[in-house]
Amino acid sequence: MERYNVEVWANEFMNALQEKKDLGKAFISEKMSSGILSSIENDYQKSKKRLLFLDYDGTLAGFHKDPQKASPDEELYDLLDALNKQENTTVFLISGRDKQTFGRWFLPKKYNMIVEHGVWISRNGNEFKMLEQVKGEWMGKIKPVLESFVDRTPGSFIEEKNYSLAWHYRNTDPDFGDKRATELNTVLRSLIGNDDISVLNGNKVMEIKNSNVNKGRAATRMLSEDDYDFVFAIGDDWTDEFMFQELPDSAITVKVGLKKTHAKYHVENTARVRQLLKRFTKS
Ligand SMILES: [Mg+2]
Repeated sequence: MERYNVEVWANEFMNALQEKKDLGKAFISEKMSSGILSSIENDYQKSKKRLLFLDYDGTLAGFHKDPQKASPDEELYDLLDALNKQENTTVFLISGRDKQTFGRWFLPKKYNMIVEHGVWISRNGNEFKMLEQVKGEWMGKIKPVLESFVDRTPGSFIEEKNYSLAWHYRNTDPDFGDKRATELNTVLRSLIGNDDISVLNGNKVMEIKNSNVNKGRAATRMLSEDDYDFVFAIGDDWTDEFMFQELPDSAITVKVGLKKTHAKYHVENTARVRQLLKRFTKS
């Protein structure tokens, strides 16, 4: 069986993400200095119609060993309330999470949400609607494979969403978990074949989903709905790269953490993310 080390695999994934962009320009993001932040804040204040895309896990909130427990804290609700109160500003939480969890956390708040990477959308507290028509037949084939990896990898578990499967391994021994993830990736590649599905490598999670669903596509659709003159997207992992690449060059894209990225800027951690977003609530 062909073996990949994680670096090769990650690079291949990045390359496959978008071939049309100049990779020579890629991977260079600028640290969000106070000067840049001020200039972004200035653009924000001057703009007439704003659109914000905010990833949740690893961006607005830190990681938790049990994803169900990474629930929003009061400070975060206050921040999101303040952002949503801004005039001429459309805020979307955009996440790979399932709609049940986000529905529970955010539906009563009437925040706009896109979940499962773009399968479902909810606006203004209304029930989730499908944004993308997707097929799920492949799940019956892939799930037993993931189950065998759970059996062989103590601490790992499967998260089953409506149209995707995720194998979480953040509670496993780190080296062992990474090794198993590489193996799983190889197995999945051989199984997927011609099915229109893809494997996303997140932070200690591998997610298998339909290829035509991603955050970039969803964000682009939202963008096309109105004439926005300030577009902002922030996120921390591979799945956010679709947004960074597919949004127009004028968009302000921010990566959380120091990994390679197509975003223009980066910030260190979730605390910085919150500080940054707070600047948008001062008008
Ligand atoms: Mg994230």
